[in-house]
Amino acid sequence: MITVIRSSASSEERAQLMTLLCRVSGSQRPIATIRINEQEVIALDGSILDAQTRTTISQQRAVERIVSIKTPYKLVSRAFKAQDSTIVVGDALGAHPVVIGDSSPTIIAGPCAVENREQLLTTARAVQAAGAQILRGGAFKPRTSPYQFQGLGVEGLHLLEEARKETGLPVITEVMEPDLVETVSQYADILQIGSRNMQNFPLLRAAGQNSLGRPVMLKRGLAATIEEWLLAAEYIVAAGNPNVILCERGIRSFDTQTRNLLDLSCVPLLHELTHLPVIVDPSHATGRRELVPTMSRASIAAGADGLILEVHPDPNSALCDGRQSITPEQLQRVVRETSLIAQVLGGKAGLSYVA
Ligand code: PEP
Ligand code: MN
Repeated sequence: MITVIRSSASSEERAQLMTLLCRVSGSQRPIATIRINEQEVIALDGSILDAQTRTTISQQRAVERIVSIKTPYKLVSRAFKAQDSTIVVGDALGAHPVVIGDSSPTIIAGPCAVENREQLLTTARAVQAAGAQILRGGAFKPRTSPYQFQGLGVEGLHLLEEARKETGLPVITEVMEPDLVETVSQYADILQIGSRNMQNFPLLRAAGQNSLGRPVMLKRGLAATIEEWLLAAEYIVAAGNPNVILCERGIRSFDTQTRNLLDLSCVPLLHELTHLPVIVDPSHATGRRELVPTMSRASIAAGADGLILEVHPDPNSALCDGRQSITPEQLQRVVRETSLIAQVLGGKAGLSYVA
């Protein structure tokens, strides 16, 4: 259930409503209001409330209306917000602003990890020259083995800042710990929450509360259902940050020929279930450079709002994920081809998600 607050409600009327909602929902903590869809709203699990309690809530002076949402995720649901969300990135830290979720696909590209100044700046220039709009690069890397390169940490953030200054490209980088959300937000235009952390609830809450207004790209967990993924997005939105982008990056399968299994059917399905933008990561999904261009084209044809691609000037010497990193020349082709596909389809507006 979503309670929409009247914009003219007084502070006493709001306080009264909060007290009532805390009592009926059994919440020990203050209930958070969030601004979404130009409205201030409070989301609750309405299934625990009886009809009389719902009526009492709807009669509060602070309440404009209540909206029943049947799915466990509320604020991210299409049932709550029919129009697609568009997310503006890059305006806060001086980059060229980019809109994610409008009719043209957004291409994010860059190395898996920031390795050194030369590697990052060379890649950033190539990403810009290829016509991609956002630069990626991991400073804090979640690695399977503790003996692998773990990223440059804060030094990597400084290099990303330098790359933004030189190229004007907004940057996206991963944050792995709740306590680092604010620090990373001082450098990043978008925060990435990686697959391994999709259900790190303290991290999701911190990204909702302390991200200084930066959007969050939430990658699908290694074996997460779509409902679990949307509920993870709901954590971020319910904690105060409505700007969430979903990223499909493949899920675990029994087959070892590819690194993961790209679930492309989730793209049109998500557009039906949620108003959030959806982008696809064909690099982690396939794990193989030669498959990335084809799956990039397929993702845009399926209605993805964009792609995130790993690119390296010399993939075979990359410290991380070289096998799946494309070259700057391959990136140029991907940008050209995906833009043609989007034009032919007339952008997202040209696709239908309803049976
Ligand atoms: C990455 O983007 O470099 C990354 C670690 O991705 P994922 O969380 O999808 O494995
Ligand atoms: Mn990677």
